[in-house]
Amino acid sequence: MKFSLPEPSLDAPNRNLERLKTVPAFAARYADHHKTASLDDLAALPTLVKDELNVALAHLRPTAAHGATWLFQSGGSTGAPKVGYAPTGFYMAGVHAHWRPLDRDDVFVNGWGAGRMWGAHFLAGAFADLSGCEVISLGSVTRDEYGDWLAFMAAREVTAFGGTPSVLRLWFAHARAAGLRLPSLRKVLWLGEAWHPQLDDDMAAVAPDAERWGMFGSTETWVVGTNTPQCPPDVFHTLPEQLVGVGPDDLLDFTTLDPDVLNPVLRYQTGDAGTFTACPCGRPDPALRILGRRDSVVQVRGLGLHVDDIVARVEGEPGVARAQILITERRGRVAAVEVALLTESGAAPDLADRLRQELLSSTFTLSTAFLHDPESFRVRVVDALISNERTGKTANFVVREERDGR
Ligand SMILES: [Zn+2]
Repeated sequence: MKFSLPEPSLDAPNRNLERLKTVPAFAARYADHHKTASLDDLAALPTLVKDELNVALAHLRPTAAHGATWLFQSGGSTGAPKVGYAPTGFYMAGVHAHWRPLDRDDVFVNGWGAGRMWGAHFLAGAFADLSGCEVISLGSVTRDEYGDWLAFMAAREVTAFGGTPSVLRLWFAHARAAGLRLPSLRKVLWLGEAWHPQLDDDMAAVAPDAERWGMFGSTETWVVGTNTPQCPPDVFHTLPEQLVGVGPDDLLDFTTLDPDVLNPVLRYQTGDAGTFTACPCGRPDPALRILGRRDSVVQVRGLGLHVDDIVARVEGEPGVARAQILITERRGRVAAVEVALLTESGAAPDLADRLRQELLSSTFTLSTAFLHDPESFRVRVVDALISNERTGKTANFVVREERDGR
């Protein structure tokens, strides 16, 4: 068990321990744990997983000491939605103290979707407020509006743009295909998903001076770490208010040390895996390399299918803009696996057929699971992938239940 901080102040998690003890479902589990004064105490605590935090929050219903109590929701693409509470400000003062991508001269477009209980838009707004820049609170727009808004951004000499990588990819791919440029853009802020190398290519064409600035976190932990253009996109420097543990199988757990924290984030596992590393940016503090989600291995007829690997492989093919795996279950058993492709103009007409043959012959799980019904594994060109309408996220895989009787 390794932690991100050597000697953190552990008062806040102690409070969280007392709060969790008041939750009837967890009273017995925490009964023998009385203190969190040291990292050893903390390492002895059981971890909390996604659905359990929902159970705890339903019982605790936290209230902010000052200002409003905001309730948000995330997830729903690959699992049950998770709730998270935050006070006014969304803890962004602590982030702003250590991370300064924006300054007063910036013209910042907040492109995270607003409403439907998704928190990123409001969090980014609170951060921009601290930075004192000009804020254009755009939110999400539909595809047929991209051209007009991009022209507006160019005319306003927008210098900074922020959003979920899935959404950023749509914006920059559209701008590149339409020959639109954002010559004043210097900074692209991102949060909510992993960075994607396609964004580097499209940004180089659309906004050659733009660099990426990333935040890592979740609706339950809020922002845990940040990075700069000098850091690799999957490496984040953790904030001093956030204690990160790396456990067996590189599974991460999070403990929030901020005394004002509303969610009882005490050794909470989001499902993300990671490892401590020395960041090539030169900052001496240990940084966290995010290795992806441990739940990206999906059981298909008793065999593990590494969906992220398959999506990355397919997206590396010329002519493929994006890919997504759709898993259809019937009475709890995987009935079919489909790889949906968004293709670029000029993609070879036999692309889907060729990829299907290659994936079947090179992926043990697919060839074995579909040995007797290979037609249940399909590769298909689609007009749009399935996205979460609230968050703008496009998950690498979506599981659908097929109803009996059709
Ligand atoms: Zn770094």
